Amino acid sequence: MEYERKKARLVNSLRGQGVSEKVLEAMKKVPRHLFVPEVHRDSSYVDTPLPIGYAQTISAPHMVATMCSLLELEKGLKVLEIGTGSGYNAAVMAELVGKDGKVYTVERIEPLVNFAKVNLKNAGYENVVVIMANGSLGYPAEAPYDRISVAASAPDTPRMLLDQLKKGGLMVLPEGDIYQHLYLIKKDEDGNIVKEDWGGVTFVPLVGEDGFRFQTKP
Ligand code: SAH
Repeated sequence: MEYERKKARLVNSLRGQGVSEKVLEAMKKVPRHLFVPEVHRDSSYVDTPLPIGYAQTISAPHMVATMCSLLELEKGLKVLEIGTGSGYNAAVMAELVGKDGKVYTVERIEPLVNFAKVNLKNAGYENVVVIMANGSLGYPAEAPYDRISVAASAPDTPRMLLDQLKKGGLMVLPEGDIYQHLYLIKKDEDGNIVKEDWGGVTFVPLVGEDGFRFQTKP
């Protein structure tokens, strides 16, 4: 019950700056404490990123709220997420697309794939598929997608992700190394790309072929 109270307070504090009511409603339903490692559980409803091991983090709630709002998620949509991490953002997106929609989420670090699967199961999400792969190449098997959400920063927009976005689709992603910006990418009905800058952000790097090519040990 204590968690419920803290969750409601946190979510209400995220109102404003283009965050949609629909997204806030979804975030009120998702138990973030089930996606946070036990040692950090007391901080689950503080608006901050938290370590999830393997040098990765669960994104701050305000960032999840902003990205999900920019994506204009609706019931029935097919969504691709790159960087599953804890599975929390996938769960919020799963709430928004509902039972008729589907979230495919790709993670490169095996223990995090397992962590996210357990978390999503405990929270009761059945419309999320967690895939272990290099997400800098997207997930061609289920392409094209209505929406794409990227939770790790790439040097440039990965070409494969643009190719896997439907016409009329939206993609949100951070780009840059030390100085990163969040971008909203719209692919119009003729396949033209429009890119909007949503300002400075901080994300872990997108590692891999179409991302940063340095090696990190998972
Ligand atoms: N959305 C997550 C936040 C994840 S942090 C959440 O809600 O918890 C970003 C994640 O992207 C990390 O888990 C990292 O391992 C993953 N990542 C980085 N590069 C990747 C790649 N090329 N393919 C798949 N996942 C990647």
